[in-house]
Amino acid sequence: MFDVNRAFSLLEKISFERLGGSKEELKAAEILMEEIKKEGVEPHLEEFEVDYSEIKVAKLFVDDKEIPCTGIKMSGSTLEEGIEKDLVYIEEGLDVNLIDVEDKIVLLNGRMMLKTYKKLVEKKVAGFIALGGSVYDDLDNTDLDEMAIRKVMYENGKIPGVCIRAIHAEEIILSNPKKAKIILIQEEGKATSRNVVCEIKGSVYPNQKIALTAHYDSVRFSSGAYDNASGSVGIMELFHHFVKNPPKRTLVFIWCGSEEMGLLGSKAYCETHKEELKDFVFCLNIDMIGVVLGKEIACCTSEMALVNYIDYLGKEIGIAISAKQGVYSSDSTPFADNGVPSVSFARISPQGGAKIHSRLDVIDHLDKNSFSSSLTIMNEFIVRMDNSKVFPVSRVIPDNMKLELDYYNFRKERP
Ligand SMILES: [Zn+2]
Repeated sequence: MFDVNRAFSLLEKISFERLGGSKEELKAAEILMEEIKKEGVEPHLEEFEVDYSEIKVAKLFVDDKEIPCTGIKMSGSTLEEGIEKDLVYIEEGLDVNLIDVEDKIVLLNGRMMLKTYKKLVEKKVAGFIALGGSVYDDLDNTDLDEMAIRKVMYENGKIPGVCIRAIHAEEIILSNPKKAKIILIQEEGKATSRNVVCEIKGSVYPNQKIALTAHYDSVRFSSGAYDNASGSVGIMELFHHFVKNPPKRTLVFIWCGSEEMGLLGSKAYCETHKEELKDFVFCLNIDMIGVVLGKEIACCTSEMALVNYIDYLGKEIGIAISAKQGVYSSDSTPFADNGVPSVSFARISPQGGAKIHSRLDVIDHLDKNSFSSSLTIMNEFIVRMDNSKVFPVSRVIPDNMKLELDYYNFRKERP
């Protein structure tokens, strides 16, 4: 069984900002490896490349008034003196919003989405301003978001962008602005991120493998205690359990790097181990558990039978969990996309509960009792799965889930 005190002490050790490809991420990987070695198992690191950018200058002026901003990584650079253009507020970037945007700077609601980005490249937009935070931001106790655009976007072409606070965007719109000037200078390149991997060989069906995954990176400004030091510790507890109680099937534990940059660690694993993936019968992923106010969920990218099974299991052992079929935006998804049935477990916080992806994601909102409830259901589940005489989950991804995967991976557009 698991040891919630041990889990909490590891949680404390790795709750610091761990950006994909940073030295802090490497430090967290080393702490995880130390923990694995305590059990006499030898882990290894699998490195992969991620985008890296250093913002040298990021400035925004609207009608000559300077607005605090951050540069959007991987969005390219402007001329040294910047670009000054007409400013247009394009809301969500519907076609009507984009009638007259060529060679202009656009301000949009929220983050940049792929669909909008492609349209802006097509329309030859000169620059963009994305929004972070909220119109209710307390400036002293919140951070101005840092954003990056991903390869799926910038391979269409680069548009230099900056991010501002929604509270400032509201002021800008109210001032009926005319011109905006962006100065953005950045150095773009590559950095190294890594997965921490170790294996416990199966005693009865060693050729059937189960992946147990959790990402250990965080976003900027966040200690990432809940998202997802908690899941990393969850997988570690399953590891400790199976070292003491050898599994029938081969368990491959993968602490994934750079999930927050687009599931890059799990994608790299699936790419590097493409041939071996046929031996994987299942993937169990954990992303965010142990939160005080919350509810247990299981998101199954699999046949419906698994959904029903988890529902029944919760009832059997007396833990409330809602299971559904779907695609969870986490490291289970690249496995599912490669044909490996997957489940992501989480304890999701309600409206008004603990927040992620900001400085508010701290250990104070997690507790041992909630951790126990999350860990109990996962432990009971995976022990039963591993113990099966015949692995119960069919190795198929049903058509409705294939379609969801197509939407998630931008291969098809949701109607
Ligand atoms: Zn996460």
